[in-house]
Amino acid sequence: MLVVMKAQATPEEIKAVCETIEQLGLRAHPLPGAQRTAIGITGNKGEVERGNLEALSGVAEVIRVSKPYKLASRDVKEEDTVVRFAGTDATIGSRNLAIVAGPCSIESQEQAFAIAERVAASGAQFFRGGAYKPRTSPYAFQGLGIEALRIMAEIRSRFGLRIITEAIDNESLDLVAEWADVIQIGARNMQNFSLLKRAGRLRKPVLIKRGLSATLEEFLMSAEYVMSEGNYEVILCERGVRTFADHTRNTLDLSILPAVQRLSHLPILVDPSHATGRRDSVLPMARAAVAAGADGILVEVHDHPEKALSDGPQSIYPEQFATMMDEIEQIAPVVGRSLPRGIRIEAAKA
Ligand code: PEP
Ligand code: MN
Repeated sequence: MLVVMKAQATPEEIKAVCETIEQLGLRAHPLPGAQRTAIGITGNKGEVERGNLEALSGVAEVIRVSKPYKLASRDVKEEDTVVRFAGTDATIGSRNLAIVAGPCSIESQEQAFAIAERVAASGAQFFRGGAYKPRTSPYAFQGLGIEALRIMAEIRSRFGLRIITEAIDNESLDLVAEWADVIQIGARNMQNFSLLKRAGRLRKPVLIKRGLSATLEEFLMSAEYVMSEGNYEVILCERGVRTFADHTRNTLDLSILPAVQRLSHLPILVDPSHATGRRDSVLPMARAAVAAGADGILVEVHDHPEKALSDGPQSIYPEQFATMMDEIEQIAPVVGRSLPRGIRIEAAKA
């Protein structure tokens, strides 16, 4: 259910409606919009008695949301969600493209700094790097853990880049939330519902990668899990799905972009690296993603991919990343976007 407040409703009226909802043993999710505030209701088993709510002061109407995902749905919030990063000009979901670049795994301080310096010089605003790696083999490199988180925190202070890294379980989730700016939930964990709920109780943006065989509805339901716990800063990421095609690692499903944008207000990035698994396919797919309306690109970059401890064959060279930035900068205005170059950090207030 959704309570739509009148445009002129006061903060007190909004608060009173939320309190009434909570008194019914339900959860209220106030979602401010440009025109009016809507209040999502979750936790109800059946239909909520709408008469009581409709009678409250400041309420315009009470409507039923028929989709299984509620808070992630555009029915509940018409305007696009824009995730902002305090003290910087970086955004995800605005007309500015968000570019996330970095190695698959943080391998050493030297490796991470060398790559961060190059991607920052080309104008990336976000740095990615795995600290905890979900690997198919238990014998493969599993990530440097907390040491990698410390290295990325230093990268943030040195280059200003905001940090995105994956949490794979409860323990790493708490650490990632403490050290990073965005918590990534990987494809293999997209339906780890207890992990999603726990991430929903944190107050850090959560980037959810599409599961290997997830439908659009399943993908949006994962976002809903996070939002249902009160964390509304969710970013989706298309990273390819498994098909019969064997010329690429996965099949990049760009057709999910207009579908997500029609059904949801959440931003969606595209990861052409895991989608294709091939360095020579990354730039064409990044260009296509921007042309198709992605809110940004998440891409793996390595200065010595032949020596990478994970995902070397799909990691592009820093020079290729520079080319990718130049190319998408030209495509961006065609689709009403622009590419910010570099991150501006506001001087700390005295
Ligand atoms: C990653 O981004 O490094 C990663 C493991 O991605 P995915 O979960 O999409 O496989
Ligand atoms: Mn990877």
